[in-house]
Amino acid sequence: MPRATIVQIPCLADNYAVLLHAPESGETIVIDAPQAEPIKAELGKRGWQLSDIFVTHHHNDHTAACLALKAFYGCRVIGPEAEAERIPGLTRGVAQGTPLTFGSHAVQVLDTPGHTLGHVSYYFPESRVAFTGDTLFALGCGRLFEGDGQTMFASLKKLAQLPDETEIYCGHEYTLANARFALSVEPENPALVARAKEIEARRAAGETTLPTTIGLEKATNPFLRPHSTAIRARLGLGGVPDWQVFARLRELKNKA
Ligand code: ZN
Ligand code: FE
Repeated sequence: MPRATIVQIPCLADNYAVLLHAPESGETIVIDAPQAEPIKAELGKRGWQLSDIFVTHHHNDHTAACLALKAFYGCRVIGPEAEAERIPGLTRGVAQGTPLTFGSHAVQVLDTPGHTLGHVSYYFPESRVAFTGDTLFALGCGRLFEGDGQTMFASLKKLAQLPDETEIYCGHEYTLANARFALSVEPENPALVARAKEIEARRAAGETTLPTTIGLEKATNPFLRPHSTAIRARLGLGGVPDWQVFARLRELKNKA
């Protein structure tokens, strides 16, 4: 089966919507719906019809265009069942284990609570790509608006178990600020130093920093590295569980 065609669309100030197109069936879906116009423009340019919106979580910057796109394309709106009443136009609620397909591709729904309590991520094993919304960012993670540190860290660990080569698209272009924070807590990590340089160059050229990969995040994202002795030494946290180091990192990032 051919890999889905993937198109990232910048929306609002720093959000991304992402199109997936299955060439064999002609179906197209969008992951999150921040803003109707740029999504419609990209679909129109390519001559694609939208069949589904896959929503990661209820926040307005991921759902604001659901009703407009549903009215225009007659598409379905798929999203977390746990947030059903907060997702405009929801036609089908999903959670981990819900059977879901895109054309002939299997889609795995992963519960990834923490940023919001119902947040889900979507993993497409045949295309080796996952959409992590505001849970896992390139070099960062989402704020803990509804869940606690232990909950969010469990979600990040679940994503970290995907194959290293899995490409990751997230909901925001926050990578440059995340890189600066990452360098402040683990400046001795050579993979991080090299990546931060590359990110600076890409942003200076106006390019996206996504997708990233699970392998790259495991090597450089401090929120996936609470076991790092360098990070623990810098935070003055010795024999505590990983999630407590994670929670402290998240607090520091909030103040950065
Ligand atoms: Zn959000
Ligand atoms: Fe967001």
